[in-house]
Amino acid sequence: MIRQILSALLVVLTLGGQVRAASPAKISVLRPVEVFQGEIAELQIFADGISGIEATMGNEPVHFFPAENGKYVALIGADVEAKPGVAKVLIRAVTAEGIASEKQIEVRIKAKTFKKESFNVAPGFDQMTAAALAEIRHERAAFARAFATTSAERFWDMPFVRPVPQEASASSFGFRRIINGVPRAPHSGTDLSAPAGTEVIATNHGRVVLIGNFFFAGGSVVLDHGGGLYTMYFHLSEFKVEEGAMVRKGEVIALSGVTGRVTGAHLHWGARANGARVDPLQLIEKLGADGKAAARPATSNMEE
Ligand SMILES: [Zn+2]
Repeated sequence: MIRQILSALLVVLTLGGQVRAASPAKISVLRPVEVFQGEIAELQIFADGISGIEATMGNEPVHFFPAENGKYVALIGADVEAKPGVAKVLIRAVTAEGIASEKQIEVRIKAKTFKKESFNVAPGFDQMTAAALAEIRHERAAFARAFATTSAERFWDMPFVRPVPQEASASSFGFRRIINGVPRAPHSGTDLSAPAGTEVIATNHGRVVLIGNFFFAGGSVVLDHGGGLYTMYFHLSEFKVEEGAMVRKGEVIALSGVTGRVTGAHLHWGARANGARVDPLQLIEKLGADGKAAARPATSNMEE
């Protein structure tokens, strides 16, 4: 009898031990996250002993990549037209034992002031022909296809580099035009004033997911840098790479030009992070040669 009780106890103790070993992963945020409209931020979490991690911000997937000591890092972006307020990142992690856990992180999206210009023109000034409208539909569909799937593998590394040596022009990212009282889509890139024929280089490693000539964007190249990050290069005159090719950081991908709907030669440079249209210069400022994102200490401001 005593032996039976002892063995029953042993079973309970063993089960108890297993239950303790198979507890869900503990996920904590390493610092509160704030991001301005059209900017990017690094989301750092600590999730020790997990074997898988998935996350979403709104409807868009957020890709976490393992860093040192149980740390995971994701690049997130706030769209140029994102509503200021609190956005939620939902993280699902699973331990090697298959125990799942969830954690919701709040990301504060802050309003930014963008340049604005209002003017009136004769009605119908930008009326499109049926052929132009068909071309615009084709353009939208081509870009939507290019952004529909991103590589889960992260190709890029620090630092990001400028695609052309020139500086940004005055009316640039986020610039809003109000024509005849109707707000137009904000400028979703940064215009770099490159003379036609300037060599355009890849800001980082990536896969060429779109090459084409379009109504608005003209000669275009889209690079998928993996993990939900893309960069775009518009108004090009000549392509130096092919769709589907892997390119290295600094590799010449095209020559700049005056193609598409433009008034002068320049390179329109765009970026997208987890579906958000962000200022590509953010990649240089935050993840460039002087960027401090990956060099920051890992343990300050631990927040549950
Ligand atoms: Zn532009």
